[in-house]
Amino acid sequence: MTTVAAYAVPAPKAPLERTTIERRPVGEFDVLIDIKFAGICHSDIHQAREGWGEAMFPMVPGHEIAGVVTEVGPGVTKYAVGDRVGVGCMVDSCRECDNCKTGQEQYCTGGGMVGTYNALDKNGEPTYGGYARAIVVDENYVVRIPDGLSLDVAAPLLCAGITTYSPLKHWNAGPGKKVAVLGMGGLGHMAVKIAHALGAEVTVLSQSLRKKDDGLKLGADHYYATSDPKTFEELAGSFDLILSTVSAPLDFGAFLSLLKTDGALVNVGAPEEPISLNLFSVINNRKTLAGSMIGGIAETQEMLDFCAAHGFGAEIELIAAEEINEAYERVLNSDVRYRFVIDTATI
Ligand SMILES: [Zn+2]
Ligand SMILES: [Zn+2]
Repeated sequence: MTTVAAYAVPAPKAPLERTTIERRPVGEFDVLIDIKFAGICHSDIHQAREGWGEAMFPMVPGHEIAGVVTEVGPGVTKYAVGDRVGVGCMVDSCRECDNCKTGQEQYCTGGGMVGTYNALDKNGEPTYGGYARAIVVDENYVVRIPDGLSLDVAAPLLCAGITTYSPLKHWNAGPGKKVAVLGMGGLGHMAVKIAHALGAEVTVLSQSLRKKDDGLKLGADHYYATSDPKTFEELAGSFDLILSTVSAPLDFGAFLSLLKTDGALVNVGAPEEPISLNLFSVINNRKTLAGSMIGGIAETQEMLDFCAAHGFGAEIELIAAEEINEAYERVLNSDVRYRFVIDTATI
């Protein structure tokens, strides 16, 4: 076992505080990663505050991890000491079900993926995430960070990047397609960059025009305020795909009205309460209301290579560990451009 410094939530809704945790010994197929940077994802806050249901405490959040390999187990073939690597939302899965075999480990049906934190591993031990100095992960759940990407701006790609890349690819965002990104936060700003790089015509639908200049700079072609009722008149029937990154309650009927025939509204944000919907809003014009959760390991590698090839990471605000609690409040107030990243050397 290795004792490492970490920031943990001791009990539901409690502030984070510095502590130490034990990491398992490096097993045959494990790599030990010296964590350099960890992104703060909105879902860290949902889980720390039990917004998505009962959680495990103490909790060390963090599933946007970038670092350097410092030790490898004897059976490791993919990574060597000194490699720049990342870990996202999962650290294991059954490896035998159809989804695991086809690179969709995030949808593992053989017991489900093992979350990077707030989960139990195969030995029944709690997993602890990236707000820590080091982590031990099986090499099959580690990805390589390409040389062209700095580790700090790469960290948020491990959740925000793959969460938006996977549905954009699945629903064929590309040349000739009109894609709307709903919400201009951590996920939304990555969706804009990726959809633009894929060649789609990109529209941001945000509550206000406050971040319009940023949106256009990051690759959006158009930017509309959803607080303006005229937006819904003007854009009715416009989009092939709307990617909703919003985790607040939404008027789904209103947004479905913005889709073309056969269009899809895909959710990667998850409101804490169930939604209510008049089904005629999907029956009419054969529309789809769908969801998508992160991406598989191979697809996460593909996404990192794609972002590096196009020369971008996330837009970040780098913070020290002692600023995490304040950063949580700022995320809840949509006051971050566009992802907080913890410099883990300060833990
Ligand atoms: Zn996340
Ligand atoms: Zn599986």
